[in-house]
Order: sequence, then C-alpha cells, then structure tokens
Amino acid sequence: MRLHTEHDLAFEQPVALTTPQVHYLRNVMRSSPGDTVILFNGRDGEWSARIETLAKNAGSLISTEKRRDQIQELGPWLLFAPIKRTPLDFLVQKSVELGAAALQPVITDHTNTARIKVDRLRANAIEAAEQCERLTVPEVHDMEKLSVLLENWPVDRHLIVCAECGKVQCIEETLRAAPDNTKWGILIGPEGGFSSSELDLIDSYSFTSLVGLGPRILRAETAALAALTCWQMTVGDWRNIRS
Ligand code: SAH
Repeated sequence: MRLHTEHDLAFEQPVALTTPQVHYLRNVMRSSPGDTVILFNGRDGEWSARIETLAKNAGSLISTEKRRDQIQELGPWLLFAPIKRTPLDFLVQKSVELGAAALQPVITDHTNTARIKVDRLRANAIEAAEQCERLTVPEVHDMEKLSVLLENWPVDRHLIVCAECGKVQCIEETLRAAPDNTKWGILIGPEGGFSSSELDLIDSYSFTSLVGLGPRILRAETAALAALTCWQMTVGDWRNIRS
C-alpha cells in the first residue's frame, strides 16, 4: 500500500487521508488502524506510516520512519497531442513508469480531440507513480498550442520531435551526441501527424531535432513509449539497480 500525499512528511507527522484514499484503504485493501502504509510527496522522500484512524469518510496516518531520501526525477518532459481516452490513459500510465518528468498535452494542426480531462490524467499519473515506486509524480500541464510551447520553450532543453517521414536523424545518435546533463523533451504528434508548416516551424528552432523511430508508422502512444525507452536506454537510468 503506497500512497501519494500533498502533506509534508517528517517524523511523527500526522497526515490526513483524502476521501478516495479512505475508500481505497477501507474498502479495497480492507485495512484497519495499526496497519502500515508507505507515503511519498515528491519533496520529503518516502516514509512508512501507521494508520491511526479509518472511519467511513475520514482517516489519518502518522509517518513513522523514513525509508528513502528524496531524489530528483531527471527524465524528459513528454509532449503529446491528445488521442482517444483509452490509449491516452495508457500513454500517461506507461510514461510515468518509464520516467517522464512532466507531461504536456499539445494542440496541433491535426489534433482532433479539442478537450481532454486533465484531472483524469493527473489521477492516472498519481496512481502510476504510487504503483511503480517513483518518488515524484510528474506534473501534468494544461493543454497548450504547439506554437506557444515552442515560443516559450527553455532553450537549454533539447526537444526531440518524433516524425515518421522527412529529414530525420537516428534517435540514439541524437541522444548520444548531446553533452552529459543535457535536459530533454520528447514531442509526439497526433494520429494525423504534423502539418508541413508545423514541421517548418519546429525546424526553425535551434533546440529541436527531428528523429525517426524506424520504417513503420507507430500509434502515437507506441511512439511515445518507444522514444522514452530509447531515452532511458541511452542517457537515462537503466544502468541503475533498485536499492
Ligand atoms: N501521419 C501518420 C500518422 C502519425 S502517427 C499517418 O496518418 O500516416 C502519430 C505520431 O507518432 C507521429 O506524429 C509521430 O510523432 C509518431 N510516429 C509514428 N511513427 C513514427 C516513426 N516511424 N518515427 C517517428 N515518429 C513516429
């Protein structure tokens, strides 16, 4: 039982449960006072906590012992044009498992889903972070236009843009060619692909590289997970063993 909380975590810190957490502990896990839960908040590391009270609509814990120190998540920001609900949920969950540090839905010329439920994506991100034992939950930003994102992009962060055709580089070479400690973003287009004027716009910024993921056309969610996997394999933390 591992839960994300907004509360500060410290020795003997009382932590109030949210209503969904109460429901999860009572009705799904059938827990009771005295049971141990693991907590993290993205700031204070990971803590063991004891259930103090667990009533029908409210409950509280006391954090008892630090299990892991906080670490920063150095993964790439993942930018994606929204897709249908089921593959979008899948994309969010799996990209959290694969270490994306932030998630940014993007409006592009061929984006056909005009609105998405960002709260739902946030809930998915929290659940995935709890399950995969991350110490952070990636921030899920509100949807924004591609041109605005490019205009305001931090120039010290290299943006890999996955494109299924055109003048693309090999993703592995692009990742390996950058200096150590480079910060990264990965942009995946919509099911209809990028428009040619978007590709021109992307190309006009010095912080972008167009990369290919082989000769097959991948679904957007497959492309996102494949690119994250390449990132982890090449410059990420897959050499580290869990302690
Ligand atoms: N325009 C295409 C489909 C786009 S696939 C069509 O309709 O034929 C959705 C997104 O996944 C693309 O915008 C791109 O970012 C990514 N993608 C899919 N296959 C890819 C590949 N082989 N290489 C790089 N990116 C790919």
